[in-house]
Amino acid sequence: MPIDATRPYDDENIFARILRGEIPSKTVYEDDHVLAFRDINPLAPTHILVIPKGRYVSWDDFSERGSADEIAALVKAVGKIARDEGLVEPGYRVLANVGMNSGQEVPHLHVHIFGGKPLGPMLAR
Ligand code: 5GP
Repeated sequence: MPIDATRPYDDENIFARILRGEIPSKTVYEDDHVLAFRDINPLAPTHILVIPKGRYVSWDDFSERGSADEIAALVKAVGKIARDEGLVEPGYRVLANVGMNSGQEVPHLHVHIFGGKPLGPMLAR
């Protein structure tokens, strides 16, 4: 079920539990502000989720309340992870779903990195 991105942060969401170490994940990157791990149901040969460690529901929430350090860390991490995964030369896609029309399912901001094959059109028509 898509989530309403205007709702308050829910500390029991699955990514909050991953951040607390209650649920395992395959970490690919971590720093003071960011955790990145492999998607459990990959839609491309490389499918990584990059999340802030802070309690942010969505891109909307993060862009409004996130500190300059947190925002810079997330943006820098996405670029570094893609470089480290060898995705720059073949190309890759960055995507963040926000709220109901996008189909966002987990109410903790996550940026998807997709790569490893031609990714097709940006949206289904
Ligand atoms: P959304 O549709 O919210 O943009 O994307 C949520 C993503 O989280 C999906 O791609 C889904 O496969 C992934 N996901 C959901 N639960 C888990 C989990 O427990 N572990 C990991 N690694 N990924 C998850």
